[in-house]
Amino acid sequence: MLSQEQLTRSHECERAWIEIDLAALAANTQHLRQWLAPTTELLAVVKADAYGHGALTVAQTVLAHGATWLGVATIPEGIALRQAGITAPILVLGSVNLPVQVQMMAEWQLQPTLSTPKQALIFSDYADHLREPLDVHLMIDTGMSRLGCPWQDAVGFVQFVQRLPHLRIQGIYSHFASADDPDPSLMRQQQAYFEQVCQDLASLGLGSVRRHMANSAATLANRSSHYDMVRIGLSLYGVYPAPHLRDVVPLRPVMQVRSRITLLKEIPAHTGISYGHQFIAPKAMKIAVVGIGYADGVPRLLSNKLEVLVQGQRVRQVGAITMDQLMIDVSDIDGLQEGDVVTLLGEDGEDRLTVETWADTLGTITWEILCGFKNRLPRIPVS
Ligand SMILES: *Cc1c(COP(=O)(O)O)cnc(C)c1O
Repeated sequence: MLSQEQLTRSHECERAWIEIDLAALAANTQHLRQWLAPTTELLAVVKADAYGHGALTVAQTVLAHGATWLGVATIPEGIALRQAGITAPILVLGSVNLPVQVQMMAEWQLQPTLSTPKQALIFSDYADHLREPLDVHLMIDTGMSRLGCPWQDAVGFVQFVQRLPHLRIQGIYSHFASADDPDPSLMRQQQAYFEQVCQDLASLGLGSVRRHMANSAATLANRSSHYDMVRIGLSLYGVYPAPHLRDVVPLRPVMQVRSRITLLKEIPAHTGISYGHQFIAPKAMKIAVVGIGYADGVPRLLSNKLEVLVQGQRVRQVGAITMDQLMIDVSDIDGLQEGDVVTLLGEDGEDRLTVETWADTLGTITWEILCGFKNRLPRIPVS
């Protein structure tokens, strides 16, 4: 076994790694917590290995700083947290249909998302067999057209589940399709449908059940969407869901991606670099090979478009990014040595490289970049 000190120093022998800034994660959680009313609960979404940050470390940190629930996508994600000793309530955001899955969820106390009476019956049958109540959440589709019962049928669905003796409704929830859009009209419409359902339920005496709807964007954009709980992923990790939502709450990026120079070389003018010679040196250049590639989660489509930080200075990546390595132009930097650290995302000196820039360059969203980093890169907690 490595000691704690050896573990935190273990990146000294790595060619590439991800630093997880636990102080930033704790501060983000606290700032988001303060943005919520005291009675609103915070469910931290830690699906996809906490968006690539490492689910267990993230879960422990956010639960210590104001989150009271966790959200995962799949049953194995939930079981891994339980096996590591997490006792907080866990909601599985994905859909479950097979009796064997129901058994697993009951065994590990994972709460399902139900969209149909048929799904509810599978859980109810198992609960009857156990003679013990199972906690469930009912999802209402107000416009995402993914999981959930259509909002027009939701009251009947909730009443149906209410009558099943061994199911305990822990929450009624919905999900926004475009809460990050500066135009709030779709968000308002979805909220109106959700509130209509809640009102109808209240008039039937079912008004006290926990309601939740907001993701990161809605949490930041619109406090009237918070209800009894919010489900926050991206913002916990210090990334804003949209530029217009900056500055609502101060957030700091949690993830920093670093690698090392593994080889330095001088090349003459007109030398082609990497597969396909997509870059030809216009002059004699000094090139550094860096030990990270697309198998680690650096998208190959960033080839010739990526900038990295070396000794606090921005330099450009040249040639095709390969599976485990990429090349950078360090012609203008003196005194470099093999083993020196290269920053791909995060701070070095005064400068900072962001996941937003990668997403913009690629025409995708920050969520996809973050959860694209592979487990081959060790996650090193720093604070
Ligand atoms: C992933 C997810 C969230 C979290 O979304 P962020 O935009 O990352 O905050 C919330 N609710 C559901 C149902 C989700 O699937």
